[in-house]
Amino acid sequence: MRCPFCSFHDTKVIDSRLVAEGDQVRRRRECQECGERFTTFEGAELLMPRVIKGDGTRQPFDDQKLKSGIMRAVEKRPVSVEDVEKSILKIQSQIRGLGEREVSAQIIGEMVMDALKKLDQVAFVRFASVYRRFKDVSEFREEIERLESKD
Ligand SMILES: [Zn+2]
Repeated sequence: MRCPFCSFHDTKVIDSRLVAEGDQVRRRRECQECGERFTTFEGAELLMPRVIKGDGTRQPFDDQKLKSGIMRAVEKRPVSVEDVEKSILKIQSQIRGLGEREVSAQIIGEMVMDALKKLDQVAFVRFASVYRRFKDVSEFREEIERLESKD
């Protein structure tokens, strides 16, 4: 790795340790030319697939969009930020686990609904009502009844 101080091309790793619960490696490097030391963080960069929208257009996967959708659904509900974050991580790894270069927005929506169903029923119905755009009230009621009959 190039030295950020003098741009010399050869730097030596002098220390290496796992951080962020093993998801990252923190490395101390020393430039072989100017002797400056600096730190790098390295993590496995697993690419998220692109998202195929309902109209067929493709978009890069948007973490923020996923998070804000879930946050909106759990607003004023007894769901901790920690649980939301865990769900997001789980959804992301599920998406990566598909091993596809492109994934339809619908599949992601279903994953979010599965996750919300486990977190909070009200949050689930809120998300589902926006996501599925229930055609009419009866369809919405059916969904709620379907949920209630499961308990
Ligand atoms: Zn240097």
